[in-house]
Amino acid sequence: MGNTALNFGAGPAKLPREVLEDVQSELLSFQKSGMSIMEMSHRSKEYSKINNDAQAAIRKLLNVPDNYRVLFMQGGGLGGFAAVALNLINRTGSADYIVTGTWSNVAAKEAAKYGKVNLVYPLADKPGSIPDQSSWTLNPDASYLYYCDNETVDGVEFPFIPNNPHNVPLVADMSSSIMTKAVDVSKFGVIFGGAQKNIGPAGVVFVIIREDLLGKPMDMCPTILNFTHINKSNSVHNTPATLSVYIMEKVLQWIIKNGGVEGMQKQSLEKSNLLYQTLANSNGYYSCPIDQNVRSRINIPFRVGGEKGNEELEAKFLEEAEKLKMYQLKGHRSVGGIRASLYNAISKQDVSLLIKFMEEFQRAHS
Ligand code: PMP
Repeated sequence: MGNTALNFGAGPAKLPREVLEDVQSELLSFQKSGMSIMEMSHRSKEYSKINNDAQAAIRKLLNVPDNYRVLFMQGGGLGGFAAVALNLINRTGSADYIVTGTWSNVAAKEAAKYGKVNLVYPLADKPGSIPDQSSWTLNPDASYLYYCDNETVDGVEFPFIPNNPHNVPLVADMSSSIMTKAVDVSKFGVIFGGAQKNIGPAGVVFVIIREDLLGKPMDMCPTILNFTHINKSNSVHNTPATLSVYIMEKVLQWIIKNGGVEGMQKQSLEKSNLLYQTLANSNGYYSCPIDQNVRSRINIPFRVGGEKGNEELEAKFLEEAEKLKMYQLKGHRSVGGIRASLYNAISKQDVSLLIKFMEEFQRAHS
């Protein structure tokens, strides 16, 4: 008997069961080698193949053009925030940031250590919305324009790629949205994120970077955050998180096998529509504070017991959910309430079970 928990966590998050079973089957002896992949050199032919296959899978899934490189790094999404600035802000000394929630705000603060950061609009007076693009102030001399495609904590997702009239390199944090939808990579300078939500376990950061942006880091840029060094060494400059890359490679193959990003996108829309519909049908018992047009398909925050939420009911909701083995539904500590994360490994069936529970909970507690 295995683990039958329903894991709605925001990350680390549910991984496809098939992938975990596959990992389990070769954990003690990778391809009859008599040792685990964890015990092998990052310069072995076995790991080199995994490293190259993972890059190739990302290229295939996102149709990455030839003039882009795919890198694997460490340091988490947060490391990525610093790396972006350390590698790119040098060109003009300043960068534009679109702040739509928690993570883009953290990223802007991190970048401000290394250069001048302009917010394209003042910090939102109304969280949970994206001001109209006509009101943004974009600097033609920005080294890059930065945004977070999907704010994991707040549940705000860009339904579009931001306008970039000055054609500066566009940088996107896609930690929580990567491989959930088709993306035109050619519009971007850099796409990066932690793998631990849609494409693997924690420990690896993917970076997709246009080649001409390499080679211009700040002098102070630490070697392990230096895109140019990591690229030159094909992501084995120092010891990478080999086990994480190995599992990520398997998740990427699982995505390819299950319809690619188009398949994931279709499912993602279906799953999130089902859940938002449940909120809409609850007569205000469940409510989502985010503007309709920027609601995330992936991380869905909601309150129980009315618009402001009833903390007692929410605690009960979490307690009863856990009795049904539905875990990690608690909202981020900064926003409270409930959050359901519907990453790629979450099936429609999982969402239906959550909805059934929500409907029963409402009947029993209103
Ligand atoms: N960006 C986004 C969109 C995230 O969701 C997170 C983490 N949840 C981060 C960055 C930070 O990632 P890490 O914890 O790997 O540093």
